[in-house]
This record gives sequence, structure tokens and C-alpha cells, in this order.
Amino acid sequence: MNKVRKMSIKNKTAIITGSTSGIGKSIAHILASKGCNVVINGFGDTVEIEGLQKEIEAEHKVRAVYSNANMKEPSQIAQMISDTANNFGTVDIIVNNAGIQHVDKVEDFPDEKWNAIIAINLSSAFHMIKNSVPHMKSKNFGRIINISSAHGLVASPKKTAYVAAKHGLIGLTKAVALELAETSITCNAICPGWVLTPLVQEQINNISANESISTKEAEIKLLSEKQPTKRFVKPEEIGHMVAYLCSNNANGITGSSFSLDGGWTAQ
Ligand code: NAD
Repeated sequence: MNKVRKMSIKNKTAIITGSTSGIGKSIAHILASKGCNVVINGFGDTVEIEGLQKEIEAEHKVRAVYSNANMKEPSQIAQMISDTANNFGTVDIIVNNAGIQHVDKVEDFPDEKWNAIIAINLSSAFHMIKNSVPHMKSKNFGRIINISSAHGLVASPKKTAYVAAKHGLIGLTKAVALELAETSITCNAICPGWVLTPLVQEQINNISANESISTKEAEIKLLSEKQPTKRFVKPEEIGHMVAYLCSNNANGITGSSFSLDGGWTAQ
């Protein structure tokens, strides 16, 4: 039998957008646990973010730096990538994870919410990719992972902007993968179902308030409507999939979308 190839991300550098919370935070921890230096990005309390950096550095013996780049601003994205390249000499892995949600009927959907969701959930991935690919090409290695959603494959009412952005990410993934197919850079998407993070907690709280039910009942309702396993996907389950896609064992995988959705899109 052929020797199993080792994971290849020790000493690589990964930028994970939106990693001060939820899924992104878990991805940062898991990539760091494989020996990868990480750039944390997103909003939050300064002390908590410093704590996260220190925790990652102490636990995994890697470097963790923070960028406050706003994913709505292409110039800030470009700056974060050039700072990372200057700081670490390379940008090997990007995980386009930052995202927001807004739930409203299409006729009531505020224009500024539409624009913000398209900018943060979709356009930021384009700017991240555009600015990172030259660095990846120069090192002959790259991994681009776009965190889409079950809503990148199927729709739900009252989520027009989110569904449009997440479907767009899957198209972007395929187009970039084809363009880079003959390089050593891969581009894939992950499509999670419900994961219990602040983004979903807000939706649970709204269901609970609107329908005068407890938050536990609202959680059960949310899961029962879409996710046959009736349990939340764990952030670390997404993180381990990211780590696999970054490894040498995934060299042949590009342009693909992976559902981690407890059966949501099998229905
Ligand atoms: P979260 O709210 O816990 O985290 C979102 C992160 O994005 C935070 O770090 C936040 O600071 C950051 N962010 C928001 N706006 C930003 C901006 N303008 N610039 C930079 N960073 C910004 O949410 P989460 O559930 O961990 O979501 C992470 C990704 O996973 C999102 O793209 C989301 O759409 C996707 N997703 C989540 C679920 C789920 O059930 N939680 C399911 C499918 C897909």
C-alpha cells in the first residue's frame, strides 16, 4: 500500500475572515492545531480578541495575528492580504467565512441590508481571491475555501440576499477552480446546515419572540423544519473539513461544494 501522505499545512499561513466568532473561530483553532499560522479577522471586543490570539498561540505554538479589515471595503481586504504577505512571506490559505444575515419579505427588504449582505457574504470573497492568488501562484501552492451554506444550494423564503450571495459563492468557487485548474491552487466550497452560533441564535430569538414560544421550542422548530438529524452541526465539524481540504490528500479536489447539513439538502 502507498504510504499515507502527511498533512501539509504546518508552517503555512491562513487568513480566516470572520474568525472572531462561531464557525470562523473554530476553523482558526483547527488550522492552528495543524501547525498553521493564522490571521484572525472580524469584529468584537478588543480584550476578547487579544485573548483569542493568545489562546491560539499558547495552545498550538503558532503565530496568530489580528486584522480588523472590514469585509465591506475592498481596499481594507487588499491591505490585509499585503500585510499578511509582508508579515509571513506568503498567503497560502484563505477561508472566506465572514457573513451576516437579514430576514425580511422581499418587498420590505432594506436596500442597505441587501448591499451589505452581497458585499460581506459574496464580494469580499472575490476581493480576497483576487488579491491572494498572485501570492499563491508565486509559491506554487494555494487553498481557497468559501463558506457557503445549504442556502447556496436551496432557498428559503425571506432570505433573498443571503440565498443570492450563497448561491453566488458556489458559482465563484467553480469559476475560480477552472481558471486555476492547472496550478497547485484549489478552490472549494463548504455548505453547512444549521450551526448554533450568534448568527443563528438571533434567528432563534426572533422566532421565540414572534411566536411566543421558549427559545428551546424555537430551536426545535428551526431544526425540525430543515435538518433531518434534528441536531446542530458543530463548528469544529466544519473546521475539520477545512483542514482536510487544505491537506495534500485533497490535491485532486477543486470546484466542489461539500454539504455538512445533517441531511437538509438530501430532501
Ligand atoms: P457569526 O455571527 O458567529 O460570525 C460571523 C463573523 O463574521 C464574526 O466574526 C463577525 O465579526 C464577522 N463579520 C461580520 N461582518 C463583518 C465585516 N463587515 N467584516 C469582517 N468581519 C465581519 O456567524 P457564523 O454562524 O459563525 O457564520 C460564519 C459563516 O458561516 C457565515 O458566512 C455564515 O453565512 C455561514 N453559515 C453559517 C451557518 C450557521 O448555521 N451558523 C450555516 C451556514 C453557513
